[in-house]
Amino acid sequence: MNAATADYALVGHPTGKHGPRKGNPPIDMLVLHYTGLPTLTDSLEALADGPKEVSSHYLIDIDGTIYHLVPEDRRAWHAGLSYWRGERDINSRSIGIELQHPDGNAGPYPEAQIASLIPLCQAILKRHPISPRNVVGHSDIAPDRKEDPGTYFPWKRLAEAGIGIWPEPSDGMDETIRVSKVLHAIGYDPDADEVMAAFQRRFMPEHLNSDDIALIGRLASAFLARANEFS
Ligand SMILES: [Zn+2]
Repeated sequence: MNAATADYALVGHPTGKHGPRKGNPPIDMLVLHYTGLPTLTDSLEALADGPKEVSSHYLIDIDGTIYHLVPEDRRAWHAGLSYWRGERDINSRSIGIELQHPDGNAGPYPEAQIASLIPLCQAILKRHPISPRNVVGHSDIAPDRKEDPGTYFPWKRLAEAGIGIWPEPSDGMDETIRVSKVLHAIGYDPDADEVMAAFQRRFMPEHLNSDDIALIGRLASAFLARANEFS
């Protein structure tokens, strides 16, 4: 792409850690992560320079610098064992963005980092047929293994910028509907144990340990209603 026409600048930092997208599916998911590592150097080593079989398309530093590691038409290795809406090879159909952050459940994301993330996501959504309901966190697609991008990730702000969905609690939830059924209809793995925790981490982080099933159900129903407006 021509970086001069975008609202952000890319720093090329190519890695060989990628492969062909298996079966050539549409690129219809965007997956957001934090690296869980203390410094940018550690993250570049893990995702690009070192031997570990992990990579992502982009890595955004705390100062907002965007490192471009893997071409978007290639399959990067960021999702691992995961599931969303019946699909398990999420790497073959997604773009992965890593944010330099040691723990997005422990403290906020710097403003400069989010200010770069938003136009990058907007450009990716223009380039690929990614439904708002397929903008997810790593913990959404691997709830038993992952907690990124964590409770401090500004999902609502992203949704206000046209990236993903932010639900407002609906009051019309049928109390006889099981919350787990709604979560699975959204796309969460029916075989995973921590699906409700993943949903709470993303959409009600201030009630992470709440067992207010009615509130979870209202938010999940609201999300599903919005999601069903899209393919
Ligand atoms: Zn991750």
